[in-house]
Amino acid sequence: MTTVTASEAAYVVAALLFILSLAGLSQHRTSRSGVVWGIAGMVVALAATVGLASKDITATGLVLIAVATVIGAGIGLWRARVVEMTGMPELIAIMHSLVGLAAAFVGWNGYLDVDAELSGSLLGIHHAEVFIGVFIGAVTFTGSVVAYLKLSARIDSRPLTLPGKHVLNIGALVAFVGLTIAFVARPNLGLLIAVTVIALALGAHLVASIGGGDMPVVVSMLNSYSGWAAAASGFLLANNLLIVTGALVGSSGAYLSYIMCKAMNRSFISVIAGGFGTPAAVADDGEHGEHREISAEETAELLRDASSVIITPGYGMAVAQAQYPVAELARKLRERGVEVRFGIHPVAGRLPGHMNVLLAEANVPYDIVLEMDEINDDFADTSVVLVIGANDTVNPAATDNPASPIAGMPVLHVWEAASVVVFKRSMAAGYAGVQNPLFFRENSQMLFGDAKQRVEDILRGLDALDTPVKEMAATTR
Ligand code: NDP
Repeated sequence: MTTVTASEAAYVVAALLFILSLAGLSQHRTSRSGVVWGIAGMVVALAATVGLASKDITATGLVLIAVATVIGAGIGLWRARVVEMTGMPELIAIMHSLVGLAAAFVGWNGYLDVDAELSGSLLGIHHAEVFIGVFIGAVTFTGSVVAYLKLSARIDSRPLTLPGKHVLNIGALVAFVGLTIAFVARPNLGLLIAVTVIALALGAHLVASIGGGDMPVVVSMLNSYSGWAAAASGFLLANNLLIVTGALVGSSGAYLSYIMCKAMNRSFISVIAGGFGTPAAVADDGEHGEHREISAEETAELLRDASSVIITPGYGMAVAQAQYPVAELARKLRERGVEVRFGIHPVAGRLPGHMNVLLAEANVPYDIVLEMDEINDDFADTSVVLVIGANDTVNPAATDNPASPIAGMPVLHVWEAASVVVFKRSMAAGYAGVQNPLFFRENSQMLFGDAKQRVEDILRGLDALDTPVKEMAATTR
């Protein structure tokens, strides 16, 4: 009894630590402490759970828990240490798949091992929990695996468009409701197998149907699903902490998805229903004319003469790890009296806040890093825009071409500046797979190559431009 009371108290402490963690993670400045609160919460939660379980299990069971914890923590530490910043989204997706799988297993276990004391309506509730837990868990599992495959470019990021795809999705949901009623009335293995298969297929289909441009919403949505899956397991296992934590993850993930949808001008319902209601968009592979190239030295000259510069980074900056020379370039230009600011698109990169994290890592001052809405009206008064490895987030087709797959998504209006220099390695399309008419505009020039190397070339170019001035000054003295 004492153990239960102590463990339940520890659960309350862990839940508070998780809430503190979420609060900390909501701002750059406090995000590190947010991570520390989260780790502390998880340690307390694990210790309390083992304490709770210890009264019912044998010494061998405890040893097995210890072994599983060491193996799990080892794999987690190893993956977190070796993962590249660009690989974070797929790591998160695969983690969500594990939460989904665990929830489905807990559901199955709840069916195979029913508490003998349950009867009447409590038994009915138990069976509904089993069914719902298995359904949410299995949808989360395959949905996250497909998201992982798309994000790691192991499969095409273009949307799968099966004939009658919405009928398939709605049919699966209707079947789920019908099967749940049947299962609560008369639980049997056949129905549980049927719902597992339907949920596995639905999860894969929902995410496969979503286009590359909408993947940010999918990642945060799967985050939310994994929370609800954990909460469902919490009900089955009568574990309050799992219910609270699951609800925290589920609701914060749902809210993040809503924010992302607003930022991308997408309907939340449309995205979670696998693109329901979006017009049949066609990729624009038409002719756009000639593009022009610029060298790093010429870019250095352009920057030397500029009065204001906006840098809009994207996924390519993360791939090239160009944030350090980019920060150095910003510092040098500011020293010369050039007004330098960064324009951050809400879905630039491959995870929410990706660019902000990279720029903070390179010590770019927060006050010159502006969100898209804060800076979009200023491009027209800007001398030079440096588009560093961004593509979809600066694509004017989103505003000009209603047939584009990214039509309606707000983008950075970089083309309104006097000059635009685009850093990328080729004329290849961005993540959404659409060509970018920006590259062919009169005021745009391409600076081909790895973004980090090209920015370093520009830094050298700026130094070279300075040298004659310094030497002349020395000679005159
Ligand atoms: P994009 O993915 O549209 O484009 C990135 C560009 O970077 C590519 O065109 C590529 O061109 C270039 N690039 C790649 N490597 C390098 C390198 N080493 N040096 C220079 N350039 C390089 O990036 P954006 O950030 O503009 O847009 C993000 C996209 O990702 C959006 O479609 C968004 O919806 C999606 N997404 C965002 C998520 C999020 O949460 N932020 C999550 C999942 C998807 P090239 O190959 O020619 O070099």
